[in-house]
Amino acid sequence: MRVVVTGAAGFLGSHLCERLVGRGDEVVGVDNLLTGRIDNLADLFGQERFTFQHHNVSSYVHVPGPVDAVLHFASPASPKDYLELPIQTLKVGSLGTHNLLGLAKDKQARFLLASTSEVYGDPEVHPQPEEYWGHVNPVGPRGVYDEAKRFAEAITMAYHRFHGVDVRIVRIFNTFGPRLRPADGRVVSNFLVQALTGKPITIYGDGSQTRSFCYVDDEVEGILALLGSDHVGPVNVGNPNEFTVAELARLVIEVTGSSSEVVHEALPVDDPARRRPDISLAQSLFGWEPRVSLREGLERTAQWLRHIGAHQ
Ligand code: UDP
Repeated sequence: MRVVVTGAAGFLGSHLCERLVGRGDEVVGVDNLLTGRIDNLADLFGQERFTFQHHNVSSYVHVPGPVDAVLHFASPASPKDYLELPIQTLKVGSLGTHNLLGLAKDKQARFLLASTSEVYGDPEVHPQPEEYWGHVNPVGPRGVYDEAKRFAEAITMAYHRFHGVDVRIVRIFNTFGPRLRPADGRVVSNFLVQALTGKPITIYGDGSQTRSFCYVDDEVEGILALLGSDHVGPVNVGNPNEFTVAELARLVIEVTGSSSEVVHEALPVDDPARRRPDISLAQSLFGWEPRVSLREGLERTAQWLRHIGAHQ
């Protein structure tokens, strides 16, 4: 296959590109490097089957030659990033998705949208199945990401229904692993870097809010299984093991052997109180379920952070 991956230099995008090239596909990676890092592609630049376009997909996207699949992973994805880049976040979810659907339509390629558990907002249904419509504050600070992704899902389904584009939508739940930027602001990178440097671990609020963390290798495997399946419409891909943020802090301290203290800071506005995917659809469609435990994933991520010198 010849695959276009947007957000190729990002955390998930770079892992996806590597897996695709590794299995024999040709990949055209596109990224404007707003939150992506070119270093994430270091191993791919030497490979014949990988090419890179430094481009913002919110403007017209031109890819010469045939394309079999378009994987749209470009977007700021950490709350810290999308709160600092609200307009860019809205544009890449709306204009960017429109441009890439246009590319997929033109090339008669399959289109896969990276959506998110944030479409469920602060959920009133728990765990969250795909049929749940969500509970989102459209005008709150997180609305820029949540509504961009909800719009992206809507226009993806419209291109399917109106233009017959072959589409897939993955709803990604909190994913972590090597290449999560140390200063990205998400809870796993924050806690690990704080623990490794002996700084206080910052729990926002009382730490009773929950998340369900998926290791990146499991996530990528689920996304590629969905790409290869014939299911149109959103599919949750995440790890259903749910932890409170306070439990995560304890585990990070244990795994790193850190002597960091725990401090509490203000809870961000509209921070979801709980989140856990119902993955029965992914299990029944393509037999996917995550394999790496949170502890194992944290160990691997801590090892990578030490390797890049984030512990100094
Ligand atoms: N969080 C925290 N300390 C931090 C960073 C995040 O307690 O240093 C909390 C945050 O308030 C949220 C959870 O961890 O309840 C997950 O936050 P993250 O930014 O990773 O992503 P989210 O799931 O909110 O999109």
